[in-house]
Amino acid sequence: DLGLPSLPRTPARRPTRQLHVGKVPVGGGAPVSVQTMTTTLTADVDATLQQIAEVTAAGCDIIRVAVPSQDDADALPAIVAKSKLPVIADIHFQPRYVFAALDAGCAAVRVNPGNIRKFDDRVGEIAKAAAAAGVPIRIGVNAGSLDPRLLAKYGRATPEALVESALWECSLFEEHGFQDLKIAVKHHDPATMIAANRLLAAACDYPLHLGVTEAGPAFQGAIKSAVAFGILLGEGIGDTIRVSLSAPPVEQVKAGCHILSSLGLRPRKLEIVSCPGCGRLQVDIHRLAGQVEAAFDGFPHALRIAVMGCVVNGPGEAREADLGVSCGNGKGQIFRKGHIIRTVPEHKIVETLLDEALRLTDAPAPQ
Ligand code: SF4
Repeated sequence: DLGLPSLPRTPARRPTRQLHVGKVPVGGGAPVSVQTMTTTLTADVDATLQQIAEVTAAGCDIIRVAVPSQDDADALPAIVAKSKLPVIADIHFQPRYVFAALDAGCAAVRVNPGNIRKFDDRVGEIAKAAAAAGVPIRIGVNAGSLDPRLLAKYGRATPEALVESALWECSLFEEHGFQDLKIAVKHHDPATMIAANRLLAAACDYPLHLGVTEAGPAFQGAIKSAVAFGILLGEGIGDTIRVSLSAPPVEQVKAGCHILSSLGLRPRKLEIVSCPGCGRLQVDIHRLAGQVEAAFDGFPHALRIAVMGCVVNGPGEAREADLGVSCGNGKGQIFRKGHIIRTVPEHKIVETLLDEALRLTDAPAPQ
């Protein structure tokens, strides 16, 4: 016995108020949810619903749609009626679209009351209508849209400026007795975003939506988001996440789900354990791992599959997984639940793993 302390596998969550985005609870100990935004024209109902169906299949919990025009507002009832996910209407400047979103049955609205007050002071009416509909409001402060007053005070979008702006926006609703709020403070720089969310977590008990905004192309953006969310969620901060990538929404959702499952905050679906390769490599491991990943895309069961490049670590990892292959001499030794079940030529590895996975889980063959 080394006397090591027993540490929790998943971080304790910061206590917050809880709100409901339709059927999805956010904050107050609820599971961390994944969300994204559609990139279709919201007014194109069929295309928007198609995209919502794709992200639903990928594990998304909440969908947000932009509402920049009357045509988009007019499309909301049809989208809400057919979407399997609760729909958040994302609105800037136009109070009348907020009322349209509430009438359409949207599960939440993203709006910044500072904008509304500037152009058409109907914050009180919005608070009253949202309260009557039981609909929460998300306040989002981005570095790029920081209040000019705070930009002047702080000189740039510092964590303090972002937090002051968010809390001021909240106060405009609180003045009307409305507190069914969640907050997002976003920045493209993970370190600034982390500092801002830590400050915000200390200053209020609203649920927090995490996002590294404009995180970049898929690879860079996923890393920036994973680093920022990993640190914050590891400290218990964050109740819903959106990975913003210059990539299709379904990729954003997959990245968000991977981040949560890596932290033990969401059950893992398929996990591929594959080696990076080294001078002992006896197979094109990068290609093989990619082929296995493609073959199992959308596989509905939680399996761990090890794809290993040689006999040094291969048998050990393959034995630990539900299914595994250890490669060498143009062949693959196939493991199932810790036992070698057969050896197949290299070109049969992927189909053998898939066959065995189907046998193990009784899953239907992927289309
Ligand atoms: Fe190198 Fe073999 Fe380890 Fe892969 S499994 S990294 S090839 S030692």
